[in-house]
This record gives sequence, C-alpha cells and structure tokens, in this order.
Amino acid sequence: ACLARVAQVDGQVKAFLRLDEKGALAAAEASDARRKAGNPASPLDGVPIGLKDIFLTEGVETTCGSRILQGFVPPYDATVVRLLKEAGLPVLGKLNMDEFAMGSSNEGSAYGPTHNPWRLDRTPGGSSGGSAAAVAAREVFGALGTDTGGSIRQPAAFTNLVGLKPTYGRVSRYGVIAYASSLDQVGPMTRTVADTAELLQLIARHDPLDSTSAPTEAPDYRADLESGVRGMRLGVPREYFINGMDPDVESTVREAMKAYERLGATLVDVSLPHTKYALATYYLLAPAEASSNLARYDGVRYGVRAKDARGLREMYGQTRERGFGAEVKRRIMLGTYALSAGYYDAYYVHAQKVRTLIREDFSRAFAQVDAILSPTSPVVAFKLGDKVDDPLAMYLMDVFTLPCNLAGLPGLSLPCGFTKKSMPIGLQILGKPFDEARLLRIARAFE
Ligand code: GLN
Repeated sequence: ACLARVAQVDGQVKAFLRLDEKGALAAAEASDARRKAGNPASPLDGVPIGLKDIFLTEGVETTCGSRILQGFVPPYDATVVRLLKEAGLPVLGKLNMDEFAMGSSNEGSAYGPTHNPWRLDRTPGGSSGGSAAAVAAREVFGALGTDTGGSIRQPAAFTNLVGLKPTYGRVSRYGVIAYASSLDQVGPMTRTVADTAELLQLIARHDPLDSTSAPTEAPDYRADLESGVRGMRLGVPREYFINGMDPDVESTVREAMKAYERLGATLVDVSLPHTKYALATYYLLAPAEASSNLARYDGVRYGVRAKDARGLREMYGQTRERGFGAEVKRRIMLGTYALSAGYYDAYYVHAQKVRTLIREDFSRAFAQVDAILSPTSPVVAFKLGDKVDDPLAMYLMDVFTLPCNLAGLPGLSLPCGFTKKSMPIGLQILGKPFDEARLLRIARAFE
C-alpha cells in the first residue's frame, strides 16, 4: 500500500531520492512470516519507513543530497539502520535533504527540492524535508531525520508532524554522514506522539561504535505517555517571541500554552538571556566543524572524481569545485576562516565560550521548570524560491531551534494548529538532558 501511495503522489511531492522496492518487499515478507508465527521482532515489525539520505545503507546508494557522493554505495549500515532492520521495519527508500544537511528548505539538494504535501508550492522545511514530506503525504508511517540546528523539528512543524531531536548522545551517529559532530543527532518523525515514542524506543541504545554515545540505558518511553501534565511547571522564555514573527504562529502557540494551563500545568516566565547570540554562535561552530568533516570528500575515497585533472591537487580542486553546491562551499569558507590561525581565538574559541553561556542559561531555567515551551519556527512553510538567494534570511529561520543543539538538550516539535491560510504550526517542547519521556508525555497531553 505504501509503494502504491508513493507511485500515486511522489511525482508531485518528490520526497524520495531512490526506492528500494525489492529490499522493502523482501523485508515485508519476512515480517509477515514472523507475524503469522506469532513471533514479531518488535511492536513495529512490518511497518514501512523511510530514511533521510544521510544514513549509510548497505548496498543502497547514499548521496546526502550531494553530487559529490553520486554513485556511492556504502558497504555497511548505520547503527540506527541496523536496529530498525533487526526490529523488522521495511525501509522503502532514501529521502531527499539539503546537501550535507545544510539548509532549512530542501532547496539545497543537488537533486531538486521536495514539495510540501500541504501546499505543493511550499517548502517542506529542511534539512530533513524529504523525511517530513514522505510521512505527511502518507507514503510511509515514519522516517528518521537528523537535527544539527533544527532539521527534524522545523520540517516537522512545516508539515504537521511530531519530530523529536533526542539528547546529544542518546542515539548513535555511527554510519550517519557527519555535518557538525558536536551538534548532530538522529531522531524520529511521525504523525503521532505514540509513533515517535515507539520509534525512539528502537534506536535509543548505547553504541560502542560511537564514542559520544551515552552509556545510559533508555527508559520505557511508552510507560508514562498518558500520565498528563497536572502539577508540571512549564517555562515560557520571554526571548522566544520576537519581532517579525508570523502573528498566526504567535497567537496559536500562545493558545496552546493556555491549553496546558487548562490541563493542570503552571506556566512560568523564564529568561534565556543569551538567546540573541545563539544564531551567530551556531553559524560559526557548525561551519567550522563542517569544514573539517567535509575535508574527506576529495575524490579519492568516495563518490565522484574529476576525470580530466592533471595531478593530485588539481583533481582535489576540480572534484570539490564540481561536486559541492553553493551553500556547502559557503559553509566550508566560513568554517575554514573561523578556524584559521589568525582568527581562531577571535571567532571559534569565542563562540565556544558563548556556547557555554547558552548552556548555562538552560541549566538555570531548568532549575525552575520541568520543560520549556516555544514556537518551533517564527514562520510557517514559505514558498519555494522565496529565500533561495538570501542565506541570512534562511539562517534566521533556525533562531528557536538551534539553542537546544548548542546545549545538547532534547527538543520536540508538536502540531498545535494552523494559520488562517491552513498551514501547519509547530509547538516546540524543550527538556532536560535525557528527559525525552517527559517531553513525549507533555506532547501527548495536548495531542
Ligand atoms: N538550518 C540549519 C543549518 O543549515 C540546521 C540544519 C540541520 O539541523 N541539519 O545548519
């Protein structure tokens, strides 16, 4: 049924970069046999899903939305892919994304943008826009994305989905193509909170193959889902309602906050005073880490190699010149500059210090509250093409999502209503480290 749905709608939505029909059908048949024998591998055995093209999949081409990885077929599965396969979930295929996960609209994909199923002339958000669109268009029941500065939560908000970025270290990044290693985290995108809890349950594991993977055991994320929010203290950060916000977003999110009061929670005014530096901090640190991570794409080991070069240096240069898109080159230049000998202290080291201040803001706030509520994005899904030529406007989109990555905290986006023109709006719920179960419970209370 999912494959039929893909055939029906993906010509317009363009969520999939490639399908693995054979692999998915074989997995579905194996799952069927287990179910018939009364021996399912997990509660989600047989449920078709999709994967952002940032996850290595054994034997299935993986491009990360980039031309430079065209034709690259990984020899192994990412840990999360292995876990999902072991749990019996058929993987339908690989989903579109901004090149190397840099972007907020999917227009950075070397393979053309994905369209928002709610309105096809709109962006599904990014960088996990293909994952969002595929789930929202009912092509799959869930998808995995990655979130470095909002790339799960913002597309979830733009397409009316639940999207969760777990605590840094909660989910293994082994076999996940690195963008900014101190910020990247893997998470589920689904239509309901319960589905997100089920998917998280399968992937939240310690992984000795990822040195940043947390050694702590994951709790049962489903146990307290229905326990409600009575008695909880929910923080409302005054810095998270800004000029230039869509008025429908502001009023809908404020309504959602009132609904939490009616459900028995107390709203608490909190302050995160360094929020105004988060965007600048992120856009120094993320490109710095990216410039280092992307050094490996040199035409020698992976994907495409420039053919007509004379000598090694020229081959490196031409491969990267032709293989990377404009946004990726911009990040490499920004990052290399921030890390260069003369500017390292002024930019990179300084940004690291501000990152600490941002983290401390959250620690202070979480001494008073159980979780923090805010809009996920200041705007709703905008028209494809609207911001393509304005990288700064695109960066501003991440203002509410990226502080959480800088602090390593879990964050969830929950559908909370629509604009007058019927575009989905997301409510963001931020939590203490490893407090995903509480975020899910809070989200479920509103759903
Ligand atoms: N839009 C942000 C960026 O381009 C976040 C991307 C992400 O979370 N992967 O860096």
